[in-house]
Amino acid sequence: MHILVTNDDGVTAPGLLALAEEMRQLAEVSILAPDRNWSGGGHVKTLDRPLRIREVQLMDGVHAFASDGAPSDCVALALLGFIPEKIDLVVSGINPNANLGHDVTYSGTVTAAMEAVIWSIPAIAFSLDTQENHLGKLDYAPAAQIARKIVQTVSKHRLPAGILLNVNIPYRPLTEIKGVQITRQGMRVYRDRLDQRVDPRGRAYFWIGGDAPTGIPEKGTDFGALASGYVSITPLQLDLTAYPAQHLLNTWNWDESEALPEDSPWHDEYSQVDSKMR
Ligand code: MN
Repeated sequence: MHILVTNDDGVTAPGLLALAEEMRQLAEVSILAPDRNWSGGGHVKTLDRPLRIREVQLMDGVHAFASDGAPSDCVALALLGFIPEKIDLVVSGINPNANLGHDVTYSGTVTAAMEAVIWSIPAIAFSLDTQENHLGKLDYAPAAQIARKIVQTVSKHRLPAGILLNVNIPYRPLTEIKGVQITRQGMRVYRDRLDQRVDPRGRAYFWIGGDAPTGIPEKGTDFGALASGYVSITPLQLDLTAYPAQHLLNTWNWDESEALPEDSPWHDEYSQVDSKMR
């Protein structure tokens, strides 16, 4: 078995090294990861410039490759031939913060795993649910050990085609982790605020700031599992089609050409619920 290890925090991130070291106990490992932090970089395909790859030595003398592309570029580079051997599994992480609910399309950690699925290779994204106010060095060892056990289980059963796993691990000692729950995406509550400032030349610029997002710890969701001390495993697919909405839209007459009704809401309760929770 040959495992590709990548991440979105950059090739020198300690979470990647911890994950790679556990994977080396199971399989041959290649590392190809971004040369800088791409957290929140989303699913990227770099088309407008060439991509460079250089060899690097990580701590403990581990050999790795670093690219100036996004996490998803790194996976594409490896699977399209930069790594000549056949890759059986792509693992991404360990990200220092959880990737839950709507985070998955922002997350470089998760979108790296999505890229693998595009090339028909199974993939798992690993993130650690660290408290937002955590200070100092993180201990990735318990999460890396859990990652190894999850990879062992996955390799025994094989993932269905087109499915990736989004794994989030509580930041606790192993003895305080209660087990694994298979979950669905929960509801992230973003608390972003736009901060407008003025640059030294008098022009406006913007930061998307605000408080760290929270989430609704509903039972059965990724948030719920972490809140009750379990590892959350959410199976994801790239088919984002909203099937119930497809049915609804088919009941509409798409040839109507009447004037727009005044003061008519453009969306139904779902979006209103969404904004009420902010
Ligand atoms: Mn990250």
